Amino acid sequence: MDRRWIRRQCIGKGSFGAVNLAVETSTGRFFAVKSVNLNSSPPQAAVALENEIRVLRSLDSPNIISYLGDDFTEEPFSDEACRNLHLEYLAGGTLANAAASGKICERKVRAYTRSIVRGLQYLHSTAGFVHGDVKGRNILLGSSIGVAKLSDFGSARKISGAVEEELFRGTPLWMAPEVARGEAPTPASDVWSLGCTVIEMSGGALSPWGNTWAGAAAEMHRIGFTDVSPEFPSSLSEIGHDFLSNCLSRDPSKRCSCDELLQHPFLSDSPAITG
Ligand code: ADP
Ligand code: MG
Ligand code: MG
Repeated sequence: MDRRWIRRQCIGKGSFGAVNLAVETSTGRFFAVKSVNLNSSPPQAAVALENEIRVLRSLDSPNIISYLGDDFTEEPFSDEACRNLHLEYLAGGTLANAAASGKICERKVRAYTRSIVRGLQYLHSTAGFVHGDVKGRNILLGSSIGVAKLSDFGSARKISGAVEEELFRGTPLWMAPEVARGEAPTPASDVWSLGCTVIEMSGGALSPWGNTWAGAAAEMHRIGFTDVSPEFPSSLSEIGHDFLSNCLSRDPSKRCSCDELLQHPFLSDSPAITG
């Protein structure tokens, strides 16, 4: 059944499309609409959105943004057409915004990380997908405290599926060394990006590698072909450093799986956030 809706306001800009808050006319319910303009966007933008629609439709986890539907619309007063993905609306902004507006205390870092790892565990073990672009800007927070969900599945793919050249391979500074060298993303490369995201949350810098940016090619060369790893934030406890060393081994076979990470005391002893 078609959902009739009205666009209310822009709530996010992605690499190609826009995300708007929308209201369903029959119920007054709010939801988010991620749109790509099919006339003016590069073809990879539509490929990524179709991919995201296909993947999200098959997922069902409290730690992953919910798919509500999809449609095509014509823009008023022009003959432009948009492809739209309807998503559950999360009102708390991104984890990257929360990190940039001040350091997140370790108690919250642990609770957010546990939610993300639960989402990734479902994605890897139950659904059989790799996310491919885990980072603070792709984790959305709810309006109630402690809710964090994985979003932006434009780079997601089946585990050991064919490498689709049109899909983006993630964001350089969060990318695992083997992905920076051109290998396909795997559950282990999501775990590396998760480690980078934990540093992003707790370090107060713009990226897991600090605030400098030498350009995508130079950064990917450094990550893929030298033996440096991101620095662990000094503010994080010893147990947090141990958790990070389980995520950030340069050898992907030495990284823990999400099942194993959930058993780590950094997550298993993590208190629930209540305020
Ligand atoms: P892109 O694939 O272009 O990076 P994203 O899916 O990451 O697009 O969305 C871009 C931004 O839009 C996000 O960083 C966030 O600020 C906002 N956004 C996306 N989805 C939602 C949602 N369901 N609820 C609230 N805000 C959202
Ligand atoms: Mg994104
Ligand atoms: Mg994306």
